[in-house]
Amino acid sequence: MCLCNKCQSNNITLSSELEEYTYKNSKYYVEIEYSFCNTCNREFISKSQILNNEKRVRDSKKQIDGLLSANEIKAIREKLHLSQTDAASIFGGGKNAFSKYERSEVTQSMAMDKLLRLTLEDSYIFKRLVDLSDIQHESKG
Ligand SMILES: [Zn+2]
Repeated sequence: MCLCNKCQSNNITLSSELEEYTYKNSKYYVEIEYSFCNTCNREFISKSQILNNEKRVRDSKKQIDGLLSANEIKAIREKLHLSQTDAASIFGGGKNAFSKYERSEVTQSMAMDKLLRLTLEDSYIFKRLVDLSDIQHESKG
């Protein structure tokens, strides 16, 4: 349950509106969530709403940059039959990299983006990356 920080009321209306942003000369619109306290008439953005808003902004920027979306990264990983941990062992980026990419918590580098695309296109690249990593994968050997 969402509470108003100011008056502790739980009479909160959740709402959202489209806001216009500009990034690299491209305009984009993001649905921004916010809360309204019906008791003290205060408008505020809760912590979880801030996180959701930031994810949407990040996803839009990725799209403008031509980077894979969070869902596309997940789809590639699943096509390769990799857990998030194994994907991080093969592609790098740190232990929790894929969990963060797939929740849109961080944006992958351009290098990581290209590597993922190439790996999906060419099974030889995937095989070589598995060979170079220290994981045991069913397609190894
Ligand atoms: Zn209030």
